[in-house]
Amino acid sequence: MIKAVVFDADKTLWDHHNISEFEEPLKIVDANTLEDSKGRALHLFPEVRETLRELKNRGYILGLATWNYEEKAIKVLSALDLMQYFHVIVAKPFPYKFLMLSYIMIEIRNRMNVRIKPDEILFLDDRRGHFGNIWLYLGNVKCLEMWKDVTRYVEIFDIIKGVDSE
Ligand SMILES: [Mg+2]
Repeated sequence: MIKAVVFDADKTLWDHHNISEFEEPLKIVDANTLEDSKGRALHLFPEVRETLRELKNRGYILGLATWNYEEKAIKVLSALDLMQYFHVIVAKPFPYKFLMLSYIMIEIRNRMNVRIKPDEILFLDDRRGHFGNIWLYLGNVKCLEMWKDVTRYVEIFDIIKGVDSE
C-alpha cells in the first residue's frame, strides 16, 4: 500500500535542470512560470499542481528529494506557492537520493509519528540512475522514471491503484 509519494524537482516537477543556478530576485511570470534576474526561466510541468493537491487531499504524505541548495529550493517552491503541498522537503548539495529518501522516512517518523516502509513509497525521478542505490540500500521502493514510466502527472493515480492491488 503506497502511503508516501516523493518527487525529484529538476526536470521532474519543472523543466529547468538546475535551479541552484537561479539568481535573485526571482520573478513570477505567471502561476507556473518563474524567471531569475538573468532571464533563466522555469516552467512547472502540466498537471503538477493539481496532482500534488489531489494526492494531499487523498491523504498521501508528500516528500521532495532534490539535489539542490536548500535555500534555493525553498525560494523557488515558495515563489511557485508549492510549499503547502509537501510534508517533508529534503534538498542537499549532493546527488544521493537513497540518503534523501532515508532522511524523509526519519522525518516522517519524527514529525508525524508515522512509520513508512520502503515498499510504501512511490518515488518519481527523471534519472533512472538513482534507483539502483535506492533498491540496494533501502529496499523495495517503487521507483518510476519520469517521462518514461510516467508520461503525464495524472497517471500517478492509476499507478498507485495498480501497485496497491499487486
Ligand atoms: Mg531531476
